[in-house]
Amino acid sequence: MYRSHNCGELNASHINKEVTLAGWVQKSRDKGFIVWVDLRDRYGITQLVFDEERSSKEMLLQAQNLGREFVIQVKGTVIERASKNPNMPTGDIEILVSELTILNEALLPPFTIEDKTDGGEELRMKYRYLDIRRNPVKNSLIFRHKVTQEVRNYLSKEGFIEVETPYLIKSTPEGARDFVVPSRMNAGQFYALPQSPQTFKQLLMVGGMDKYFQIVKCFRDEDLRADRQPEFTQIDCEMAFIEQEDILNAFEGLTRHLLKEVNGVDIEKFPRMLYDDAMRLYGNDKPDIRFGMQFGELNEVAQHKDFGVFNSAELVVGIAVPGGNAYTRKEIDQLIDWVKRPQIGALGMVYCRCNDDGTYKSSVDKFYDEGDLAKWAEVTGAKAGDLICVLSGDKNKVRTQLSALRMEFAERLGLRNPKEFAPLWVMDFPLLEWDEDTERYHAMHHPFTSPKPGQLELLKTNPGDVKANAYDLVMNGNEIGGGSIRIHDKETQALMFDYLGFTPEQAKAQFGFLMDAFQYGAPPHGGLAFGLDRLVAILGGQETIRDFIAFPKNNSGRDVMIDAPAAIDDAQLTELSLKLNLKS
Ligand code: ASP
Repeated sequence: MYRSHNCGELNASHINKEVTLAGWVQKSRDKGFIVWVDLRDRYGITQLVFDEERSSKEMLLQAQNLGREFVIQVKGTVIERASKNPNMPTGDIEILVSELTILNEALLPPFTIEDKTDGGEELRMKYRYLDIRRNPVKNSLIFRHKVTQEVRNYLSKEGFIEVETPYLIKSTPEGARDFVVPSRMNAGQFYALPQSPQTFKQLLMVGGMDKYFQIVKCFRDEDLRADRQPEFTQIDCEMAFIEQEDILNAFEGLTRHLLKEVNGVDIEKFPRMLYDDAMRLYGNDKPDIRFGMQFGELNEVAQHKDFGVFNSAELVVGIAVPGGNAYTRKEIDQLIDWVKRPQIGALGMVYCRCNDDGTYKSSVDKFYDEGDLAKWAEVTGAKAGDLICVLSGDKNKVRTQLSALRMEFAERLGLRNPKEFAPLWVMDFPLLEWDEDTERYHAMHHPFTSPKPGQLELLKTNPGDVKANAYDLVMNGNEIGGGSIRIHDKETQALMFDYLGFTPEQAKAQFGFLMDAFQYGAPPHGGLAFGLDRLVAILGGQETIRDFIAFPKNNSGRDVMIDAPAAIDDAQLTELSLKLNLKS
């Protein structure tokens, strides 16, 4: 038996007990005649003591020579500590060691294995197995386990069946690039790794598995934006014989269960917001509603004066920053520079101070009098002491810019409390979105998403106005997941591919199997997928997902620990019938 107890469980009730512990040396304090060693394992830290009086000479010497992160086993007696540490669960006791075995020596770790480490991100990733010994990472992984466990409990209880779907497949249409895997047995042919199990879960519905879920890896070869991983985990779900309402209820139930079990938070009903309203009020399809600062559209009250910038703009829109009138002129100038940075791209910012005495002072006083500005305040909901910030220009661009500014203010004003959870459904997304690069419409969600009833006809005349039976769950300004009610008949699906610019041949080559299946009795169905990494991070009160992933990749998609991706040798290439064509 390697250990009778772990390093986090012994306390005063165990005094005089003979125990065996095993773990890593966190640190030791050597006073010459007495040595204390902190022994660590996954469960905690227990203090060991060796001294001249009670330990053998050899063992004391051995203890003095223990290095950090040595793996040891000790036998000994639990005794009361002379000076107790009330901050540790094991702080009342220590182990008087009678037998010390070094199980393995360790090199000095390249960074300190402490809650606050001196190791930079890259170094910690290279030695991730050491990083995992640290509490913040270890606890994040344990937290993730708890969340996934609760997901499985809840969905199983609700009658969902977890079914695994293959990883070596054919392209799935989630809008990213595929990772591909060459097939040795089928020279010149490639599998694609799933961007999601989308087509398989729909086929499972045709197969009669009317409530499916899977905690599953998905792979998307995208240029990595901050805090994205090329492989990530989804809670993937699909249901048959349901309507949108059933899906929303099922997964609102799951989210509520997680918030309750994991965070001890009760949230009654999640608000629902139409996509169009989210864009109008927050400039964003994943609004953070933990705080206000809703957009006020000012076209009616700010255009047709003499201010050309506003008059020529598609949209003039502002927010009222609470207490913002306290900003100095210099601070406001800095904000203007902030929105003008290329990352935000605004051409400028107009502002209006709402003075405590009820008067207004704007940066465009030449064009607008007090009466005009009072209307701005009314539309944006500004009160005395606030600052109204106004941007103008192309509608879509300006909404994105003002949304970024709103989030920046929220950050500066401390309004993004990670302990507060504000979930909501955003509904009725557009079916299609215009892609500037290819000058074509693309499916906003994916091509299996059904248009709202009665809107199929609109596809011909106003494709951009067609709304979909598609929904996202948003929490604290992040998209937690999304899904849709699917098309389940072959004709509509064919029509959809046609609108998306697939020739019938292309559609058949890529998705013929699905269209075929639809001819064999496909039930009405729909589903959604949650991004597990992000969900766990948010429930854990953090916005970066990396620490909730045991072995994450860096921003260039590399695993710096195992050094992947890596070249393969010529023999392997030959076996795969591949030839490289590298540009040096
Ligand atoms: N497959 C979709 C996704 O990965 C989710 C869904 O429509 O169920 O985003």
